[in-house]
Amino acid sequence: MKIAVYPGSFDPITKGHLDILKTGAEIFDKVIIAVARNSEKKGFLPVEERVKLIRESVKDIENVETDSFEGLTIEYAKKKGAKVLIRGLRAVSDFEYELQLSQANSAMCEDIKTVFLTTKPKYNFISSSTIKEIYINGGDISKFVPDAVYNYLMEKK
Ligand code: ADP
Repeated sequence: MKIAVYPGSFDPITKGHLDILKTGAEIFDKVIIAVARNSEKKGFLPVEERVKLIRESVKDIENVETDSFEGLTIEYAKKKGAKVLIRGLRAVSDFEYELQLSQANSAMCEDIKTVFLTTKPKYNFISSSTIKEIYINGGDISKFVPDAVYNYLMEKK
């Protein structure tokens, strides 16, 4: 069974993330989408809320599991029996950071490979931080986030 981990902040999950995840779920037998807990970064939403929103957004995809983890992604992947990490690429600007990260991970554990996926062009520009900015300034985010996130954020206002 080919298991992949898709790690990230998902603060909150967007349609860009979801598109990457769906592609991953077509390629691998199981994909675990996992929110990284970062004690130094406060974040927009608490990790538990992010996990809940992901769970609701992915409920129709059979081979996806939602989780959170603390510490090194590579250690988490090992614990889960995953041989692949999924990361998304939007633009050249993502590339340098993502390449470094994947090389650091493979230096720590050669057996786990990073696979890069891209989204449909219409989701390419979407990032959690852009969405937060639009939301905070009263703009319409309905096109950029799954319904669960939209409803949650509208209620929160
Ligand atoms: P991190 O804080 O680990 O970068 P994010 O939640 O911002 O976590 O993103 C998780 C992964 O999804 C990253 O690899 C990021 O490049 C990718 N990603 C986010 N938005 C998009 C998008 N619109 N298209 C493609 N990849 C994306």
